[in-house]
Amino acid sequence: MRKYGRTRDGSQNATEQALRPVVISEPCPRVATDRRRRKHYDLCMSNHADSTNPKRFYPIGTPGLPWGDAEKVQWFESRSIERSYRDEVLSKLEKIESPLEVQQYGALSLDPQRYPLFAVKSSRVLTGAPWALITGGVHGYETSGVQGALAFLAKHAAAYTDRLNLVIAPCVSPWGYEVINRWNPHTADPNRSFVANSPAEESAALMKLIAELGADFLVHIDLHETTDSDENEFRPALAARDGTPFEPGLIPDGFYTVGDTENPQEEFQAAIVAGVEQVTHIAPPDAQGEIIGSKVTQHGVINYPCTAFGLCTSVTSARFTSTTEVYPDSPKITAEICNAAQIAAVQAALEYALAC
Ligand SMILES: [Zn+2]
Repeated sequence: MRKYGRTRDGSQNATEQALRPVVISEPCPRVATDRRRRKHYDLCMSNHADSTNPKRFYPIGTPGLPWGDAEKVQWFESRSIERSYRDEVLSKLEKIESPLEVQQYGALSLDPQRYPLFAVKSSRVLTGAPWALITGGVHGYETSGVQGALAFLAKHAAAYTDRLNLVIAPCVSPWGYEVINRWNPHTADPNRSFVANSPAEESAALMKLIAELGADFLVHIDLHETTDSDENEFRPALAARDGTPFEPGLIPDGFYTVGDTENPQEEFQAAIVAGVEQVTHIAPPDAQGEIIGSKVTQHGVINYPCTAFGLCTSVTSARFTSTTEVYPDSPKITAEICNAAQIAAVQAALEYALAC
C-alpha cells in the first residue's frame, strides 16, 4: 500500500488507473444559480456513471452495500497528495512568538514526522480570564478553516491575550489538508467523531488536549466551509461508504453558521453573521426554508445537535459555540475574502463572548 495515496506525479499501473475516481481531481466549475448547479451535478453524475451499472454514483464499492476494509483501502490508495502541510501550515507556525506559544499535542500514526499536530496557546495563563478555543481544518479540505485560523493567529490573536486565554488548533486533520479530503485515511469523518473511543485519531487527539487543559472554556468557534465538492464528491462518497442511496441536495450560496440545538445562543450566532456580512454575503434559505436540509432559524443560522452528532463544537462545555460555514465557490468570493470571513467570524464571536 502506498503510504499516503498517490502522489500527483506518481506513476500508475493499469489497476490503479482503473480505480482512480473519474472527477475527483478535476476542479468543479463555479456555479451561480440552482439551475446551473443541477446541470453541474448531472455532469458529475454522468462522469461517475458506469455503463454496466447505471445506478452507480461513486466509483468504489457496490451500490447498496456498505464498504468493507477492501473498499476503504481502495479509497485510501486512490487519494493524491495535492499540497504540503509543512509548506502551508507548519512554516507559518514557526513564526509564532510571545505572547503566544506552540504546543505539539500529538501526531498522526500514518507518519508522525510528516503529520505532527500543533496548537497555539497564550504563553501565560491569565487567572480569572475566560478561555477561548478556535479550531480549523477539522475537515482538512476546507482551506479557509485552516488559513483563516492561521491568518487570525498572525494578525489578530496577540491583541486578545490581555483579555482571554487563547487555544487555537489551526489544522486538526493535516492528512485531509494535503489530500484535500473530508475523511481521514480510514474513511472516518473527524467532525462526526468527537465521541468516546473516537474512530478518528484527529478528533481523539484534540479531545485529549482539551481534557488535559482542564480549562473552563467560555467560547469555541470551529471554522469550516461548505463547498460544491460536498455535493459532487463527498456526499456521494458517504452514501457509497454506507451503502445508502444518494439523494441529491443543493449547496447554499453564501455564509452560514451551525449552532447547537441544545444550546442555540441565538444572539451569539446573529453577532457572528452580522460580523461576516461586512465581508461576504450570507446564504439565503432554499424554497423549503432550509439550508442543507435543516430549518433556517434566523438569518444565516441552522442548528445541529452537536453532541449527538459528535461535532467538534461539543469538545468543550463552552457556553458559546458555533461552526462557521464559508462558501468558497461563489463567483463573488476569493481565497482572501474566505479567510477574511473566518477572521470576522472569530472576532465577532470573541467580542460577543467577552461582552457577556
Ligand atoms: Zn466541514
